Amino acid sequence: MRVVATRAELAEAQEGAGDRRTALVPTMGYLHEGHLSLVDRARELGDRVVVSIFVNPLQFGPGEDLERYPRDRERDLDLLRQRGADLIFVPELDEMYPHGEPTVTVSPGSMAKRLCGAHRPGHFRGVLTVVARLFGLVRPEAAVFGRKDFQQGVLIRRMVRDLEMGVQVELSPIVREDDGLALSSRNAYLGSGERAAAAALSRALFEARERWRAGTSSASSLLEGIRGRVAAESLLQLQYAEAVDPDSLESVGQVVEGTVLALAAFCGTTRLIDNVELSGR
Ligand code: AMP
Repeated sequence: MRVVATRAELAEAQEGAGDRRTALVPTMGYLHEGHLSLVDRARELGDRVVVSIFVNPLQFGPGEDLERYPRDRERDLDLLRQRGADLIFVPELDEMYPHGEPTVTVSPGSMAKRLCGAHRPGHFRGVLTVVARLFGLVRPEAAVFGRKDFQQGVLIRRMVRDLEMGVQVELSPIVREDDGLALSSRNAYLGSGERAAAAALSRALFEARERWRAGTSSASSLLEGIRGRVAAESLLQLQYAEAVDPDSLESVGQVVEGTVLALAAFCGTTRLIDNVELSGR
């Protein structure tokens, strides 16, 4: 496994790659099994797996956790080595943005005004801009993202389609703890009481999926159930719960196979997101 920190080293590694098919996994580090499952999927899609680790300031809003975002470079590299990644790109800020903050950025359009985007203005512009930049630097044939960040995945797919980027975008299943909590680097922020309370988020989503499987098709009824479950945990503060079409992200009134139930909530000061796709009725 080779680790490169500069654009020059990356370019050199790219030249050495020949015509091997490259699959890219962009991350912000502090890796867990969710990230590593993307590496496994990338291995199936390419002959060469490139992982980037970069905490992208463009996607953090004022007052968010950019400065305290957890970091552990050596541990990340050990995990990636064990998982068989080929090339790791770990740029510092001035390697990623050598001309300072970009003035030309990717506008995510109206789909970024919903769900998380409604509460994190500028977030998806920052995400799409860094992903477009990574695509330009790494030139992957495929890229793998997690369904945990469902809106992000849908927007990246749409960007690749609308801007003809020619990258195969794969969305990989959510990896969860035994009690259902979706793995997240931000779970490290949770105290033990918060950690226990956080499991109510996935429980609420799974319960809604069971109610749908048992015949409830009204989105408002399912969402009321979710709100009630979350409200019962005093450490949780729901930001939104919505039932959306998986392609347009528009809210739906009647829930069907493929509809996504998505939520965001604060657990103490930590913002957590989760979602389930409805299937198996
Ligand atoms: P992050 O480092 O949080 O930016 O995440 C990097 C990638 O890992 C994104 O595509 C995430 O959607 C994905 N990811 C994060 N958590 C999980 C998880 N629990 N299961 C699957 N993928 C995940």
